[in-house]
Amino acid sequence: MMVNGDIATPTRTKALLQKHGFNFKKSLGQNFLVDVNIINKIIDASDIDETTGIIEVGPGMGSLTQQMAKKAKKVIAFEIDQRLIPVLGDTLSEFNNVTVINEDILKADIAHHVTENLSDCDKIMVVANLPYYITTPILLNLMQQPLPIDGYVVMMQKEVGERLNAQVGTKAYGSLSIVAQYYTDTSKVLNVPKSVFLPPPNVDSIVVKLMEREQPQVEVDDEKAFFKMTKAAFSQRRKTISNNYQSLFMDGKAKKDIIKNWLDTSGIDPRRRGETLSIQEFAHLYNELKKFPELEL
Ligand code: SAM
Repeated sequence: MMVNGDIATPTRTKALLQKHGFNFKKSLGQNFLVDVNIINKIIDASDIDETTGIIEVGPGMGSLTQQMAKKAKKVIAFEIDQRLIPVLGDTLSEFNNVTVINEDILKADIAHHVTENLSDCDKIMVVANLPYYITTPILLNLMQQPLPIDGYVVMMQKEVGERLNAQVGTKAYGSLSIVAQYYTDTSKVLNVPKSVFLPPPNVDSIVVKLMEREQPQVEVDDEKAFFKMTKAAFSQRRKTISNNYQSLFMDGKAKKDIIKNWLDTSGIDPRRRGETLSIQEFAHLYNELKKFPELEL
């Protein structure tokens, strides 16, 4: 059996590109990590041990996968690019605890693969250097399905990471912060320089940690409707919630007074902007909405 060295070095990565005649596809967000230190920091933040199951999105040539396979019980890695499957067969040949799945993460039956491969793991983490062009749909899709995921340590474009982790009242705070913080406890792990990727991306990067809450942060009876309501508060960021909510409800302009009444009875000043409302205040507004059947989501 051949024992491979670290994949995440510029020399090794370039050698593999050449050996397999591989060329990067920008449209798939292919920026490979060539720095083992960064990989180790991602792994440290993920608290991986021999009972952990990992879901990786986009293993690329296996730079992160390889280091996780050394520590975790099992890794399942979803890779859309068929050209990378033989490369991964080569680079990960020494591991029997890695399953590479040649599927689009947005279309795959993740629950099925988790049951099939990770049901004997004590905890399950999503750890990935994500394809940046679909960061938000990937995370929302994973969070909003009933999957046994304990947390996420994921690299993404800096601005998106800042939105996930944003505090109320800041510029970055918006509907994405609310969805993420509804399900998870968010924190920043580290900023990552462009120089650790091949090729370097055009944007700055950040690693963010999201740990699933035992219960969502607030209680609402219909998550979809709740998120529709919170999203509408930010549809035009410079407008007041009163104005933004007139565009949310059918015939909203004509229901201006009812909307004002709803906001007033909820104790929320209609002149406030969405970015000043905490998730608890949004949940309160949502629950009060039941008293106003004219305002249907
Ligand atoms: N993990 C590798 C690394 O850090 O070196 C590669 C990370 S690269 C930023 C993103 C990877 O996601 C690429 O390998 C790309 O082919 C893959 N990818 C892009 N879209 C995908 C999708 N919809 N489903 C699964 N993988 C995808």
